[in-house]
Amino acid sequence: MITESSISINDIIRKQREFFQTGKTKDVAFRIEQLKILKQAVLENEQAIIQALKADLNKPEFEAYATEILVYKEIDYAIKHIKTWTKPQKAAVSLEFLQYSAKIYPDPLGVVLIIGPWNYPFNLMIGPLVGAIAAGNCTILKPSELAPHTSSLLAGIIAKYFDPAYIALVEGGVETSQNLLAEKFDYIFFTGGTNVGRIVMEAAAKHLTPVTLELGGKSPCIVDTEINLEHTVKRIIWGKFVNAGQTCIAPDYILVDKRIKTNLVEGLKKTIKEFYGDKPETSPDYARIISAKHFDRLVNLLKNGEVIIGGETNPAERYIAPTLLENVSLDDAIMQEEIFGPILPIIEYDDIKEAIALINSRPKPLALYLFSQNKNLQQRILQETTSGGVCLNDTIMQYGVSSLPFGGVGDSGIGSYHGKAGFDTFSHRKSVLQNSFLFDLNWRYAPYQGKLAFL
Ligand code: NAD
Repeated sequence: MITESSISINDIIRKQREFFQTGKTKDVAFRIEQLKILKQAVLENEQAIIQALKADLNKPEFEAYATEILVYKEIDYAIKHIKTWTKPQKAAVSLEFLQYSAKIYPDPLGVVLIIGPWNYPFNLMIGPLVGAIAAGNCTILKPSELAPHTSSLLAGIIAKYFDPAYIALVEGGVETSQNLLAEKFDYIFFTGGTNVGRIVMEAAAKHLTPVTLELGGKSPCIVDTEINLEHTVKRIIWGKFVNAGQTCIAPDYILVDKRIKTNLVEGLKKTIKEFYGDKPETSPDYARIISAKHFDRLVNLLKNGEVIIGGETNPAERYIAPTLLENVSLDDAIMQEEIFGPILPIIEYDDIKEAIALINSRPKPLALYLFSQNKNLQQRILQETTSGGVCLNDTIMQYGVSSLPFGGVGDSGIGSYHGKAGFDTFSHRKSVLQNSFLFDLNWRYAPYQGKLAFL
């Protein structure tokens, strides 16, 4: 295992640059082999991963499996498609270029840095790593210090299965992150909060290092009248309270058509009880807040609006009950910052115009959810709002579709990954144009006199 003190960051980067220069990572067979090793590393450590996530977040085993370990599906997808992705792509040429051939070669970037957050501390390290390996890079990983059990487990796994000259993991907090960011990388892939994203981009700018920023924000969830209520409430409650609301694409707040609000609220309350029982604190299926600092922040947000259900807290366990709020003001802190916890404000609208105007008056969200069978409304929301992604009649599930690029827009992020998008993120598209020696037309050579007519 590598800690900052045992070996300097500088040393790791130098060794990785040397390794990259050997050209080994350019070999597609090598990349496939490494992806297989990564999958093996995940599968062989399943139980340890589940335990680490339990220790960090009290993550239920089912959630650990469904939302973290299943990241190996991304590995399978990359193995299945890598041969197509790495093939040079023919590009069409216009008539004047008939004697030329044009191709785009995906080139590895070199040594890349991946910095992760604590909420899905396993998935959000391994997921981006899949793209980095598939694209033929060397990688340094920096997991979040706020999920220490997962961080240390990951450090052990990476050290056991990979040569540090190829893939290394550096554990540490903000200072380590800053030390890494002071170095020159060929790419930085960051997942975390919007404010830290700004710091990362500023540091990257010094070296002109390109970045992907997977950030957060307030993802709205619109509920129209034309729905199947039973399906809607289950999908919202699961998406909001999985990992105790600490999910970047959790529905942050609900915007509901006034005519259906009472029914929706009744359905949501009933579902909370069905999922977590009358005392969610004793439910084996409900996670805890990551740290005392985040717990205190969330308890403060409970002062906003009126509690419909929930509101109970236990600082000793960092427990916050699944909570629904109403009568919040748009100026309240809960409607100003990303909630990132198990508190769901419900705001009603008279006309969908108000909901659209509210969304468009805010920073662009990472996800937008609409529950409605009305095709015109679906189209209207797609056309009149911007967000990293949209999921119609469900929540969170868009994350699991490898063929869909996942990423934000505006304040919710820059760039995307998953599947081919992950491969593209960690590749340079090198344009290659080739002329032939069959013949040569003189139209472009000096002397130019009389040659304007050829243009
Ligand atoms: P964070 O930004 O506080 O930390 C992320 C990483 O950055 C950690 O590894 C941390 O050590 C490092 N870091 C923190 N402060 C730093 C600084 N000043 N300089 C350099 N590095 C620093 O984020 P978090 O609290 O771990 O995660 C929560 C946030 O991440 C939420 O906003 C959430 O929406 C977002 N998120 C986004 C996605 C996504 O895919 N878009 C996924 C998960 C989480």
